[in-house]
Amino acid sequence: MGKEQKDEKPADTPLPSSAPPDRRPIVVSGPSGVGKGTLYGLLFERHPDTFCLSVSHTTRDPRPGEEHAVHYHFVKMEDFEDLIAKDGFVEHAKYGRNRYGTSKMTIEEQTKKGKVVLLDIEMEGVKQIKNSGIDARYIFVSPPSIETLEQRLRGRGTETEQSIQERLAQAQKELDFSKTPGVHDIIIVNDDLEASYKKFEEFVYSPPQ
Ligand code: ADP
Ligand code: 5GP
Repeated sequence: MGKEQKDEKPADTPLPSSAPPDRRPIVVSGPSGVGKGTLYGLLFERHPDTFCLSVSHTTRDPRPGEEHAVHYHFVKMEDFEDLIAKDGFVEHAKYGRNRYGTSKMTIEEQTKKGKVVLLDIEMEGVKQIKNSGIDARYIFVSPPSIETLEQRLRGRGTETEQSIQERLAQAQKELDFSKTPGVHDIIIVNDDLEASYKKFEEFVYSPPQ
């Protein structure tokens, strides 16, 4: 590729007027059921055509309403392992009995869209993205309490009892990890939804530091 082209922004990346001043990828993590999807769902709704979700690969089954290639690329374990062997992931991790990962192709495709890419990943993935050289911003969403988290997980009605227990055990590890200094740029305690959303949006739209 010629130098002229290399130095240009990709041709298909017009800046939407609603784009935040800091266009680095945004990594959102926090315990399952804390409200990550709810918060970035509001962001996408209130700022259309500005953000896109990095659609991960997972070996878990779709929940009712989840669509292939929209919420996740739902794949068989052997296909996931095949992609690992081909070095196709930027990061991947085991979560409960399933595997999750961000493929290199997904990041390339999403970046080309000219939107700000948002990744919803767990803590091992966060560590790998940090070590990957990708310059990203990091938001951790924390529950007001473990009891509230459990209520939300149960209230969502998507998990078996075993999955709830696995997620609660993992939640404690995520919360411990969130205390590591310097890992996250902001920790938002998702208590009142609208107040938490405002903090989320304000951070996303803050100028580059
Ligand atoms: P995650 O994406 O982190 O797994 P979800 O966004 O699916 O979590 O939220 C889990 C459940 O909690 C959903 O039923 C959602 O409607 C609910 N929820 C999210 N945020 C709040 C909040 N601030 N107050 C009360 N319920 C919430
Ligand atoms: P869920 O099954 O609730 O959709 O996701 C379970 C956990 O996996 C969540 O903490 C979510 O952030 C995480 N997760 C989803 N996709 C990825 C991914 O591509 N990589 C990693 N490391 N974690 C992911």
